[in-house]
Amino acid sequence: TTVLMARADMYFLLPMLVWVGLYVLILYIFVPRVRNASIGLYEAQSTMVGRMVDSYTNIMTVKLFSRKEHEDKFVLDALRRHSSQFTDKNRQIFYMIVTLNAVNSFMIGALTILSLWLWRDGALTPGQIAMVIPLAIQVNNQMGWIMWEVTGIFEWLGTVQESMETIARPHGLTDTPAAQPLKIAKGGIEFDHITFHYGKGSGVIEDLSLRILPGQKVGLVGHSGAGKSTLASLLLRFYDLEGGRILIDGQDISKATQESLRAAIAMVTQDTSLMHRSIADNIRYGRPDATMAEVEAAAGKAQAQEFIRELQDDRGGHGYDARVGERGVKLSGGQRQRIAIARIILKNAPILILDEATSALDSEVESYIQQQLAGLMAGKTVIAIAHRLSTIARMDRLIVMERGQIVEDGPHDELVRRNGHYARLWALQSGGFLP
Ligand code: ADP
Repeated sequence: TTVLMARADMYFLLPMLVWVGLYVLILYIFVPRVRNASIGLYEAQSTMVGRMVDSYTNIMTVKLFSRKEHEDKFVLDALRRHSSQFTDKNRQIFYMIVTLNAVNSFMIGALTILSLWLWRDGALTPGQIAMVIPLAIQVNNQMGWIMWEVTGIFEWLGTVQESMETIARPHGLTDTPAAQPLKIAKGGIEFDHITFHYGKGSGVIEDLSLRILPGQKVGLVGHSGAGKSTLASLLLRFYDLEGGRILIDGQDISKATQESLRAAIAMVTQDTSLMHRSIADNIRYGRPDATMAEVEAAAGKAQAQEFIRELQDDRGGHGYDARVGERGVKLSGGQRQRIAIARIILKNAPILILDEATSALDSEVESYIQQQLAGLMAGKTVIAIAHRLSTIARMDRLIVMERGQIVEDGPHDELVRRNGHYARLWALQSGGFLP
């Protein structure tokens, strides 16, 4: 446009350059403001959605403590902040549009007056005027369009940058390039001077060594917070050690592939979460190629067959085809636990970790499952964590932990005789009467 206008008359060159200069200036001033306002808006939106999700996922707690009003207010605060950020962003866009339109109108007016002057002096023909003014109007339209695009790009860039910080992080825990699948022959475990503090600098586990022989059944005992679950997580390599190493059958787990490590270990935790799929799919999760007969046999061993037969979901699926609801909400804690146990029976891994595995069961079912677990444990290396000592007293060996250290180690009878930490815990739980 500038070239075409300059050809009509060199006088047009100056206003066109001024116009372009002003346009660039407007973008330079307003685009960063719109981008910052977009980042603010995005943050406010995450906070708002986060608070809503938090209240809904904890709806039970909200109701139990009758904190509905407080939660409403909490979300409302976030909603207000979101609205104010939204207004703020739109205000910046509005300022930008108004400034641009003012400049554009002024420039179209100026060019019109200039061309009329030049026409009066005979320097411009009516045909050239008929070219200059529509061109100026066309420039005005294009500037508006480009401004929208540029603002849009920077607006989304702000949003994307913000989300990238959350989702585009490199994996902290990766297989080494030379990682080999773990070869498990017997399932012996060795914790070799391990240190781990969840990155806090100190505490949790400090220089702990423990050797568990292949096939040995070990009970982990200790006060809550002693580091028992942490030890299990480290064995599964959910975290990398801060010092020392963990060996399974002589192979350092940090040099093995994570897939092979976790395939070798079956774990039942205290609170089992199930997939929102059918019961059969959930049981089969550790071994997708298991036949229906194997699934049913595993469920039978876990005392789950009876209740599974009666299950019915809202889509008409029943028995093994019934879907369990998100995280398994349609089942009771004990039923979920039995599904989890059936799942590990089917997985049949050489190393077994039971973290309060039977805590959600009633005594009758628990004693039955304890018997089943005894069968399941045969020939496997087992680490069982339990608060109810009666459930692990029969283990080959008990490890008593305190503040991330092993304070006692031996079979039940010996530890009771030693009259130390374990004997105290035992006396507390058995009241001194249980055999
Ligand atoms: P236990 O299973 O014996 O009850 P844990 O292994 O769960 O104990 O916890 C041991 C210590 O580690 C506790 O002091 C706890 O606060 C801390 N801890 C547990 N999980 C985490 C975590 N994800 N981040 C930071 N500290 C943790």
